[in-house]
Amino acid sequence: MRSVPVTLVAAYAAMASQQPPSPGPPADLIVHNAVVHTMADAQPAAQGFAVRGTRFVAVGTSADVLRWRGPSTQVIDAGTQAIVPGLQDAHGHVLGLGASLQALDLRDTPTFAAVVEKVRARAAKMRDGDWVLGRGWDQNRWPVRDWPAPGPLDAAAPRNPVFLGRIDGHAALANRRALAAAAITRDTPDPAGGRLIRDASGSPTGVLIDAAQSLVARQIPQPSHDQLRRQLLLADQAMRRVGLTMVHDAGVAPDVIDVYREAIANDGFATRIYVMLTGLDTGDWFTRGPLIDPEQRLTVRAVKLVADGALGSRGAALNEDYADEPGNRGLLVTAPDRLYDVTRAAAEARFQTAIHAIGDRANHEVLGIFERVSREVPGARDLRLRDEHAQIVDARDIPSFAGLGVIASIQPTHCTSDMPWAPQRLGNTRVAEEAYPWRSLVAAGARLAHGSDFPVERPDPLLGFYAAITRQDTSEQPPGGWTPDQRLTRAEALHGMTLGAAYAAHAERDLGSIEPGKLADFVVLSRDIMQIAPRDVLSTTVVRTVVGGRTVYER
Ligand SMILES: [Zn+2]
Repeated sequence: MRSVPVTLVAAYAAMASQQPPSPGPPADLIVHNAVVHTMADAQPAAQGFAVRGTRFVAVGTSADVLRWRGPSTQVIDAGTQAIVPGLQDAHGHVLGLGASLQALDLRDTPTFAAVVEKVRARAAKMRDGDWVLGRGWDQNRWPVRDWPAPGPLDAAAPRNPVFLGRIDGHAALANRRALAAAAITRDTPDPAGGRLIRDASGSPTGVLIDAAQSLVARQIPQPSHDQLRRQLLLADQAMRRVGLTMVHDAGVAPDVIDVYREAIANDGFATRIYVMLTGLDTGDWFTRGPLIDPEQRLTVRAVKLVADGALGSRGAALNEDYADEPGNRGLLVTAPDRLYDVTRAAAEARFQTAIHAIGDRANHEVLGIFERVSREVPGARDLRLRDEHAQIVDARDIPSFAGLGVIASIQPTHCTSDMPWAPQRLGNTRVAEEAYPWRSLVAAGARLAHGSDFPVERPDPLLGFYAAITRQDTSEQPPGGWTPDQRLTRAEALHGMTLGAAYAAHAERDLGSIEPGKLADFVVLSRDIMQIAPRDVLSTTVVRTVVGGRTVYER
């Protein structure tokens, strides 16, 4: 192509758009009479498309695509419903979602007493000694916002160890049985990167912050291979239902890759998976090199590291003290030297690195590490290094994202979940200048990929779309949106969930838009999210989810 004059290429392209190409062999699937938002620059709007095998072969008007009909073509009249490319979540935890569907869901508990009641009911049905696991509590939603005293969990489950993760995964509640299983006493020191909340006498109460959680968590029996498989399949069903066709799994142990392979080969696991290996446990992957799947079913070419904690539990690493806890600047949970070593080793093995960074100090550290590795390892920049969360970012660091080609992997619903209490943690100045700075990142030329961090948030990507364009909660509060200058447009919001996420997974040639040659992933919606009032996005539902031309969910 290089020798063909550019003007001639443009002329061919113009001809092609005026005259649809003559159909080849008939399509397997045709969708027509739809409002298709293709996300393809060449043809942003269409009425339908034709699919052969796993890929789109034609996109255009209903008349264009119906020409691809053959005797055994499945034809779907979309009845003017809206269709978008398959939606992606650029940061989720698939086993976590599966486990959360099995564990106690504590997200909507209005008080600590409600948590205790759920534990009591579950423990009553379990054998003595079995672990009661739960997740999702958030003391910021309760009338008393202090850390709870887990004492009542002893009476609720006297014969079972109890371990209940906070909504953000950065704190947990353990009862006395669980503390005993971990041999935690008043003499147990705080581990590096973590803290045991203690009562006036110095005894641990059972509230475990950040790395302290693992003292107890590692006593929980490992799920069996079969339990892992069931968790993956539960998550797969949940992801299909909400229109997710690809998920970037942010932190996967090497042995889980085999479970994925098995679930895909034998159990019909349908969601495309882009694996970020747990960066501190990559097995022999750096020797073997990345697994790149041309059909994008299962790709392993990234590692995930964690720089700091979270804002809710005051573990995010800040440059200045927490506004509501003078003297505390949060925690760097992995030493910067270690982050650098793994990022560099990953780059040499041709793996992308994705680092969790929430506080402004963590983001600065991570960008510094990416700058150094990009300078030292040839081609490292092409690996599309990723900053996961990029939540609180010093304005002076914003230009580095575009400058270094670092992807800002953001979670719009984290913003709307955190906004009720983020000003207490940060004070109004840092909120105004640094918090969830999406518009500033876009304006500075950064590439964004959007996700939810499920099961921390719900996996429904339409909630992320709504949060991105409104910065309001689901009751449309606050009026006008929270720090509304940082909102995104609908096109930007959809881009982050499609092409932006695909780019972050090196998959933009195969995924992210509806155009001939790409894998046929799309979602039929009950309403057109690009047109309706923002609040109506919340009641929009997924009608059909299609992965590679195959319907994997239908309402
Ligand atoms: Zn995460």
